[in-house]
Amino acid sequence: MASFGTWLRAERDGIYCPPGDFWIDPGQPQTRALITHGHADHARGGHGMVVATPETLAIMATRYGPQPGAKAVNYGDPFRVGDVRACFYPAGHVLGSAQILLEYAGERIVVSGDYKRSPDPTCPPFVPVPCDVFITEATFALPVFHHPPVEKEIGKLLDARASAPERCVLVGAYALGKAQRLIAHLREAGYDRPIYLHGALLQLTRLYEKLGVRLGDVQPMAGLPKAALKGEIILCPPSALADRWSRRLPDPITAMASGWMRLRQRARQKNVELPLILSDHADWGELTATIEELGPAEVWVTHGREEALVHWCQSKGIPARALLLHGREDEGEE
Ligand SMILES: [Zn+2]
Ligand SMILES: [Zn+2]
Repeated sequence: MASFGTWLRAERDGIYCPPGDFWIDPGQPQTRALITHGHADHARGGHGMVVATPETLAIMATRYGPQPGAKAVNYGDPFRVGDVRACFYPAGHVLGSAQILLEYAGERIVVSGDYKRSPDPTCPPFVPVPCDVFITEATFALPVFHHPPVEKEIGKLLDARASAPERCVLVGAYALGKAQRLIAHLREAGYDRPIYLHGALLQLTRLYEKLGVRLGDVQPMAGLPKAALKGEIILCPPSALADRWSRRLPDPITAMASGWMRLRQRARQKNVELPLILSDHADWGELTATIEELGPAEVWVTHGREEALVHWCQSKGIPARALLLHGREDEGEE
């Protein structure tokens, strides 16, 4: 196999492109890196030259401090690295997230990073980019993963809040992307009360606002008396759901916003009373529909449940293989 893309290879540490002498989302500092998005398993600090969208670079600067070799490129603006032509297109995953189109030797390869097709008011939607090889994620690549409509999950959250005025709803949400998206969807649904944040979510939420994402009245909860938080919605990182910190809240209904909440067992393990299935990754239907829409000559599958998606592609007559990249954490920041 491998008739396409002999000029791109999966290494232990990420994807390496010899004719451009650059890495995509490398796990270690490299001389030249192209970064798809700001999640920690894709974006690390300390590269020599680092090319990404302005938003991704701003997220990296917030997390890792200034990156001296940073080079910002907007969506749709082609650029060259070595002998390779590259261009970023929206991936619809988190603010700044990009698919990277690489062109070399008359071939087009799209590295999608992480992506989704469902609506997200905090970032531009995924753009289908015709290509010979589509490199796709596979976080939720099993038929069991079907993400319900967002409105349904937001409705569950608002109903829970309305039904328990003496309590509060505490929602675990990842600091980059999920927290801000949840707030934006609540605003779309007409919820206009202040939304309170655990300190660990403040910095990136403020950055989203600075970059033009409107989130309404969002406040730190630190310093507020317990009674003032009755009937309110509070967001925290998932790790804070179970710790002592939550004792300062009025009898919280614990919720968690994640694609993993599709698995009841996962919700039970984490003591989540109100599982909200809200994912920033494509579900099985989106993954397979995207591949059908693009019609690539080959599919390469990265981090997640590679086998099922590889098998599905092959059953459709599309050559496919798994790229075994290390250090990708599907649990870390879904
Ligand atoms: Zn991601
Ligand atoms: Zn990822």
